[in-house]
Amino acid sequence: MNGNHASERFETVIIGGGQAGLSVGYHLAKQGRPFLILDANDRIGDAWRKRWDSLRLFTPARYDGLPGWRFPAPGWSFPTKDEMGDYLEAYAARFELPVQTGVRVESLSREGDRFVITSDRGRFEADNVVVASGAHRMPRVPAFAQELDPSIVQLHSSEYRGPSQLGDGGVLVVGVGNSGAEIAFEVARTHPTCLAGKPAGEIPVRHGSVAARFVLPVFRFLGHRVLTKRTPIGRKVGPKLAFKATPLIRVKSKDLAAAGIERVPRVTGVRDGLPVLEDDRILEVANVVWCTGFRQDFSWIDLPAFGGDGQPLHDLGIVRSEPGLYFMGLLFLYAVSSDVLPGVGRDAKRIAKHIAQLAARTSQAEATDSHGLTPRELEVVRLVAAGKSNREIASVLEISEHTVARHVQNILGKLRVSSRTAATAFAFEHGLA
Ligand SMILES: Cc1cc2nc3c(=O)[nH]c(=O)nc-3n(C[C@H](O)[C@H](O)[C@H](O)COP(=O)(O)OP(=O)(O)OC[C@H]3O[C@@H](n4cnc5c(N)ncnc54)[C@H](O)[C@@H]3O)c2cc1C
Repeated sequence: MNGNHASERFETVIIGGGQAGLSVGYHLAKQGRPFLILDANDRIGDAWRKRWDSLRLFTPARYDGLPGWRFPAPGWSFPTKDEMGDYLEAYAARFELPVQTGVRVESLSREGDRFVITSDRGRFEADNVVVASGAHRMPRVPAFAQELDPSIVQLHSSEYRGPSQLGDGGVLVVGVGNSGAEIAFEVARTHPTCLAGKPAGEIPVRHGSVAARFVLPVFRFLGHRVLTKRTPIGRKVGPKLAFKATPLIRVKSKDLAAAGIERVPRVTGVRDGLPVLEDDRILEVANVVWCTGFRQDFSWIDLPAFGGDGQPLHDLGIVRSEPGLYFMGLLFLYAVSSDVLPGVGRDAKRIAKHIAQLAARTSQAEATDSHGLTPRELEVVRLVAAGKSNREIASVLEISEHTVARHVQNILGKLRVSSRTAATAFAFEHGLA
């Protein structure tokens, strides 16, 4: 990095070095394409490490590996979030993926034929950009949350680490997805706890049980192979499933009841600084944990690539209206599995292949347009056509006269002409001058 105003040019820049960005990097490296991954975090894997302390993955290790390297743990074990973070870091090292950490991208726009990326660590230019900034990052909290009494401790699930962050007194956990169920279950050990809302169903077998070993592969098959954008059932059901809360996986209704958690209706607003429920009850709690999910924020992307709902307009991650722009890790990008570990590798492979094909076509077109001349030879032929002598060209390009003479010989050979005059005529005729 050369400071704030530096500009570095890359064939492809991947914004986000989580599992989605690293998987694209792996496949680009395999295709021999140059690229750079930028990530705002200090360490690769921090997106996982920053989640709550007791979190274990819901997906077994056998489905948690990225392309080219199985997750190094028994297939039916459930890694901790730190083990997942460490695996991502080791993955980047193993495949020597070029990741610059501590770089927060602030804007993405286009200037002519290239993308321009500004960040807190400088400016980058790229022919292709893959946005892999994560579908589960920007906390979604209802607007009325700010009306809660300031004495109430409020946290979003993304800020929750453990019960010690909470004050004495009751806890209201809002939202019964897997985060809400797990966090309520944990805080109920130390605090009287209410859980507001209804779950979107439950996985019918005990998590980690032998029965689950038969059921999980079926779910994976459905989410990965059947519920995709390529099948009629996938197009019909996929978006509903992907954008809705996931059924409870590990902590289920009977566990919540056994832990003494009071189930209450949805929270609809705030009265006198306290949360109000759908049944008009006011809850006198000292803590609220919002497990209300995430939204995506693309306001930093200044490109006409979004629909009226602010979501990217893409075809399996490829933005047709902005050639060279790609998205990864979006909900239902291709399949219900697209935003989770079991699905990310397949999407990454398709996107990397598209980038490689585009790059190959561009270099072929450039080679045809330039009649096989290198960028330096193009400069020389332009100066020859401008009537400059070898000495003058050497002075303009700050190279030796001997090198200029060598370039001229190469140019005559490549253009199949025998003199400078003929090369000049060729250059004018073919738009090289
Ligand atoms: C609590 C929780 C548990 C989950 N458990 C599982 C599970 O068990 N199994 C499973 O398969 N999936 C799980 N998921 C879903 C999903 O796999 C994860 O959210 C995963 O982290 C998504 O990976 P990603 O690479 O798409 O995004 P992220 O992991 O969020 O990575 C995005 C990266 O982009 C970087 N970034 C973002 N914006 C910028 C910017 N402007 N400039 C530079 N860098 C930027 C971030 O620093 C981050 O490192 C879980 C999700 C949550 C929230």
